[in-house]
Amino acid sequence: MGMNGGDCDLKKIGAVIAAIAAVALIAFIAWDGIFNRTVTKDFFAMDTVVSVKVTGMKAEECTAEIEACVAELDSILTRHKPTSEISLINQNKGGTLSDKTAEYLRLLLDVSKKSGGAFDFTLGAVSDLWSFKSKPSVPDENKLAKAVSESGYKNVSLSGNTLTLQSGVIDFGAAGKGIALDEIRTILENAKTKEAVISVGGSVLIYGKSDAKVGIRDPYGNAGRSIATLTVSDICISTSGSYERYFEESGVTYHHILDPGTGYPVQNELISVTVVSQSGALSDALSTACFVLGIEEGAKLAKDYGCEAIFITKDKTVYATDGIIDKLEITDNSYILKAYEN
Ligand code: ADP
Ligand code: MG
Repeated sequence: MGMNGGDCDLKKIGAVIAAIAAVALIAFIAWDGIFNRTVTKDFFAMDTVVSVKVTGMKAEECTAEIEACVAELDSILTRHKPTSEISLINQNKGGTLSDKTAEYLRLLLDVSKKSGGAFDFTLGAVSDLWSFKSKPSVPDENKLAKAVSESGYKNVSLSGNTLTLQSGVIDFGAAGKGIALDEIRTILENAKTKEAVISVGGSVLIYGKSDAKVGIRDPYGNAGRSIATLTVSDICISTSGSYERYFEESGVTYHHILDPGTGYPVQNELISVTVVSQSGALSDALSTACFVLGIEEGAKLAKDYGCEAIFITKDKTVYATDGIIDKLEITDNSYILKAYEN
């Protein structure tokens, strides 16, 4: 009897434990389902593909908010809509900026100055002559020279929110995608998002994830292929490459990153530059600036801003600054990794 009773008790205890485990499992799945929902969505904005992956309780709301935010930012910064804030400023040769636009413009002015004009956000008219967005072709030499002489960040002055533009056409093309990441980060923070990966063209935000692996794009391959992985947490990463927008004419390849001094595409040993920064706006602006400056001056500029940079040369050498080199792993052995020493 004792034995049977013992058996019976054990079975009861077993059943109770099984029941508790089942309830706990269901609760865990439900909890996880509520608090760790993941939403992925791709959409087109800012002239590029935006990819959103958000995990958290408010993932759906967050994704919708991100989509609306990028569309709104685009409608403020674009030069291709005559009623955008930037278009109006360009038409009126100045005006009163919204707080946000003033804040970002101040940053672009700073990068222009610190890069010695290698970065220049007033090249709109020069850029338009190349028609990269429609049917690209080499512009007429005289028209190009005129547009270059009328451009230059020194023609812009900003006092409080009041901007004056003596000449030139303001273009946020080199920083808009990174600016979008900074705006998106605020949305993610407000929604107490657990983790997210957002890419706006060549600019990526890694949010809340520890040790996420991000591919560094193969400059010679198609968009999905990478040549290295970077292991990072809570950071923005932007890449500027001469392979991004280009065309060929009479056997010469022309790309969209321009030398502000000549108006022609930058010619140096580089094929792409990646900049890693807490700030999306800085990572984007600096990736363009560093491409124009080249390795030595570019690395100096990135470090001045507390950022790290990865330079890929046409002959497949990868130079990384000291703060990032340990986090970079080459996955395509036709590329050689070298530390950039300054
Ligand atoms: P992408 O637009 O491919 O992400 P970038 O961030 O490097 O590439 O920005 C390139 C864009 O910036 C060009 O299409 C042009 O509008 C603008 N631009 C070109 N040259 C310069 C420059 N030297 N300084 C600032 N902006 C530039
Ligand atoms: Mg850029």
